[in-house]
Amino acid sequence: MTGPDRSTPVLAVDGLSVRFRMRGGRHIAAVSDATFALRSGECLALVGESGCGKSVLASALLGLLPGNAETAGTAHLAGPADAAPVELLTADERVLSRAIRGRRVGLVPQTPSAHLTPVRTVRAQLEETVRELAGVRRPELRRAAREAADRAAFPADHLDRYPHQLSGGLAQRAATALALVGDAALLLADEPTTGLDRDLVDRTVDALRRHISPAPVHQATPPHQDQAPAATSPAAPSPAATPATEPADTEHRARALLMITHDLVAAECIADRVAVMYAGHIVEIADARDFFGDPGPRHPYARRLLDALPERSFTPIPGMPPELGDLPAGCAFAPRCDQATERCAALPALLDDVACHPAPPRAQHPAAWPQRPTAAAPRAAEPRTDEAHHA
Ligand code: SF4
Repeated sequence: MTGPDRSTPVLAVDGLSVRFRMRGGRHIAAVSDATFALRSGECLALVGESGCGKSVLASALLGLLPGNAETAGTAHLAGPADAAPVELLTADERVLSRAIRGRRVGLVPQTPSAHLTPVRTVRAQLEETVRELAGVRRPELRRAAREAADRAAFPADHLDRYPHQLSGGLAQRAATALALVGDAALLLADEPTTGLDRDLVDRTVDALRRHISPAPVHQATPPHQDQAPAATSPAAPSPAATPATEPADTEHRARALLMITHDLVAAECIADRVAVMYAGHIVEIADARDFFGDPGPRHPYARRLLDALPERSFTPIPGMPPELGDLPAGCAFAPRCDQATERCAALPALLDDVACHPAPPRAQHPAAWPQRPTAAAPRAAEPRTDEAHHA
């Protein structure tokens, strides 16, 4: 693959909005006016609570929205040099299925054991994918599938196992191997650490990081120490069933990674930049070191998100997110915000990478944050219904 021009974003999203038409003429605004860019060799972590719209955004980029979805804005996927740019939101299904998904956008799924075909071995699935995406034919197919497994550190002696015979970590590696076959310039990882214990989370983010950052070619894998569970066991996270060695990548190319996650600890481990989503809106975009370190987030919701971590002050955010089908006219975080004022009755725009009326300019953060206001915040929103969880 010829690499993309690194001065040009691999993915440029501008004003992306998704809303769903519901029965009775109602609409659910799952994503509103999302704007960000992502360059080769960079990881952007899109974070936020469940139901905030981040997975809907990923589905929009992959052309996998249901029929009642309406989109606006643009999502521009750059070439490599030998391929034309593609506008993802308006590309037809034929283009998306034949030229984009798997080839130019690799998907690392949320639940790899469900993503893999249960009645076919990992080898069979890799061989089919290599044949379809890379055009490799027998007798080279077996070797090419083995190399594809190596790139994700999937052990060769587990290739003839079925998905239900794999641990959670190995299923994740098998799914990652499939995502890497097409040599896509953009990887999209949707909650890749869900259901994994902390040790597996660390290994998964390490592996993903290696696939986006250029590194020298290096040689083969030391013997792995994987022990998959018994064939009758369900796939489950297990540190003992996880490779303890470095992967055997035969080469590294710079890729861009959009990682969608509610796991802030994983995001801190892997991200170069962080985009925080709340009620369908991106409310802050920040350098990951500033966000997780000093001076910290600028948006009150983002600060509360970090404060809720057990590793920090373990203070839950009061109240509940609003229903996406019944968003207020102003700032959707106002009912939960200890900085809310009358100004917050108007929707704040994302300016200087933060959507909050009183947030100080980046250069004055955090010293210039105003004292807690005396004005009463608006009433707390009602708890969400199941419908709002659609996002
Ligand atoms: S705009 Fe107002 S309510 Fe919204 S986060 Fe900022 S201070 Fe809080």
